[in-house]
Amino acid sequence: MRKIGLVGGMSFEATAIYYRKINEAVRARLGGFNSADLVLGSVNFQEVVDMQKSARWDDAGRHLGAVAKALEGAGAQCVLICAVTMHLVAPAVEAAVSVPVIHVIDETAAKLKAAGFRRPLLIATRYTMENGFYQARMERHGIDVVVPDAEGRTATHDIIFEELCAGVVKDSSREVLLGLIQTAKAQGADSLIFGCTEICMILDVETSPLPAFDSTDIHANAAVDFALAE
Ligand code: GLU
Repeated sequence: MRKIGLVGGMSFEATAIYYRKINEAVRARLGGFNSADLVLGSVNFQEVVDMQKSARWDDAGRHLGAVAKALEGAGAQCVLICAVTMHLVAPAVEAAVSVPVIHVIDETAAKLKAAGFRRPLLIATRYTMENGFYQARMERHGIDVVVPDAEGRTATHDIIFEELCAGVVKDSSREVLLGLIQTAKAQGADSLIFGCTEICMILDVETSPLPAFDSTDIHANAAVDFALAE
């Protein structure tokens, strides 16, 4: 089994889900008491949030790159950035290590394409929905991402940071997100991306109004595929 390196803590709520999903998948595939061989570099999320708010993306890239390099030094044979937003600095992380960085957008695109979807609604942080890096990477895979209107983007961003990253899950916020999904469906979206690693705390792939693709689940399973590949 290859060793997985997780750049986590963004938020720790999401990283805990990664940890559980990765270990459950290893146990399901190998049986017995098998669990993942992994190392975690867990950052202080407040420092990352401060960098995000002041658009200090170069600093964030150096910070996460250093964490990834330490994971490689600890034996990690791949690295995952356990937040979609921070894939904005994936090039800096990739440059800091010689092991592969398993990219959440590429993995999600592969799942969408395999299922025949081309026009997903993305619900994510403001940075992921508005910066352009997410859409550009998806376009390379022939996928045309749509996002909610400005009001919907603000609502989604606030639910992520004020509630989910703080471990708070509200029915009223779930209704807000479901309303955005219904609107996008009426406007032609054919699928839905949980484009932030905390969205799976509040929405369920099984009951989603649109066929849903959970970044956290897809990314965690991609790590297990890598770890268990021959
Ligand atoms: N975990 C989130 C994401 O997947 C948001 C936290 C962050 O901005 O890093 O984008």
